Parts: sequence; C-alpha cells; structure tokens
Amino acid sequence: MRYGRVLVKLSGAAIAGSKAFGFDPVALNHIADEVLSLHQMGVQVGVVVGGGNIFRGDLGEEWGIERAEADAIGMMATVTNSLMLRGVLEARGDAEVRVMTAIPINSVAEPFIRLRALRHLERKLIVVLAAGTGNPYVTTDYPAVQRALELRCAAILSAKHGTDGVYSSDPRRDPSARRYRTVAYDTVIRENLKAMDQSAVLLARDHDIPIHVFDFDRPGALAALCEGKDVGTLVANKVDDEFE
Ligand code: UDP
Repeated sequence: MRYGRVLVKLSGAAIAGSKAFGFDPVALNHIADEVLSLHQMGVQVGVVVGGGNIFRGDLGEEWGIERAEADAIGMMATVTNSLMLRGVLEARGDAEVRVMTAIPINSVAEPFIRLRALRHLERKLIVVLAAGTGNPYVTTDYPAVQRALELRCAAILSAKHGTDGVYSSDPRRDPSARRYRTVAYDTVIRENLKAMDQSAVLLARDHDIPIHVFDFDRPGALAALCEGKDVGTLVANKVDDEFE
C-alpha cells in the first residue's frame, strides 16, 4: 500500500452531482462507496468537504453580504455537507464516522481537537473535518492541506468533478492544453495552474506533502491511488514536470 493515511478533499460539487445546487443521492452514494472502499482496504481516512453546492463566500458581493459574513455562511454549508456525508456513510457501511468541526456546534458534531482526531484515525474511524479553518478569507483547499499536515496524512487526494488532473492551460478553451502526469509545486505556483488554491499549494510545498488531483467521477480512483497506481496528476516537490 502506497498510503496508510490520507486526506480526501471533496468539493461541494461532488455532493451536488449532476445538479448545480444542493444534494444528489446518486452522487452521495458514489462518495460513500469510494470512501468506504479505502476504509475496507485499511487506509485511515480524513475527509474535508467544501460547501459550494450551497454557498460560497465569493458570492457575498453579488448578494450584498460582507465577505466575512458570507464566508461564515460558506463554512456552515460545509458543516451541512459533512453531516450529510456522515449520514450516508453510516447508512451504507459498517464504518464509524465522526464529524469534527472548527466552529463549535456541540450538539451535532465534535469540536476539532487534533489529538482526538488522530486517535479516531488510529482506531479506524472515518473523520469528516467540517467548517474549514473556522476563519474567513480562505476556501476549503487551505484547511484540506492544514488538516492533512496536522493529522500526519501521507497525501492529499484532491477529488475533482469535470476535470481529470492539472493541465498546462484550460483544456476547455485551449485545444493545445496538456495534462501533467507529475508537476512540481513551484511550476504550479509560477504558472498559476489550476490544482488547488495558491495558498494551499504553498502550504503543501513548504511542508512537503504530495497532492493528487484526479477525476472523482471515475470509480475506484481513490483506491487505485492508495494502492500506488498513477491516476490524474501528482503535484509534489522533487518531481519533474512531465506530461501524459
Ligand atoms: N470557508 C471559509 N473558511 C474556511 C473554509 C471555507 O470561510 O476555512 C468558506 C468560504 O466562503 C468558501 C465556503 O466556505 O467559499 C465553501 O467552501 P469552498 O469554496 O471550498 O467549497 P467548494 O468550492 O470546495 O465546494
């Protein structure tokens, strides 16, 4: 097994599935099956889920809502998604699941306490990390890396919807765009490539944790990555920039 403990980053779009907004039961079951497949393989799993299927802070301006307030709404959206995910995971498998949140909401989820989260992972519980960092002006990309580091994960599996890796330019606009098999953090930052938010990529680079960017709609991708197969793009230090 390549990885014994990973952090899976899902966007809200993974939960909305074919819809632009809200929840799709088919998509939720797909997420549950993928995450449970890791659990069955003995991989310890933390999950950070976004909230874009409900609300994102960058919509605040359009709605006339101050950014910090809009971000609080976005963070609460990630809590809703995390609870939804726990519900579906527990219904579909025999895994025990805990939601830990950066914003205290004690009657529905545990507060995030690093050592307790580590203990849950060691005991093979799936840990869903809600409410991002608990602070505004970032998206869930940054806390995905932060939590992965705090919880000593071996890698971040950044699940995408509608793309299958990191490209040299936007493949929807540029027919000459090429997908990287491996790409160095410094290239992603310099070229502003679409992998994760730059702040998240910088944190990952500085603390040397690899990020896999891959198409989550492809069944079995999470398991394949943990087993050591190459799926999508690997972003890391000390790798050559290589195209497919
Ligand atoms: N958010 C925040 N702080 C955090 C994480 C998230 O303020 O640490 C807010 C931010 O407004 C963000 C929203 O929560 O837009 C939802 O997260 P994200 O945009 O990452 O969702 P995704 O695009 O992955 O569905």
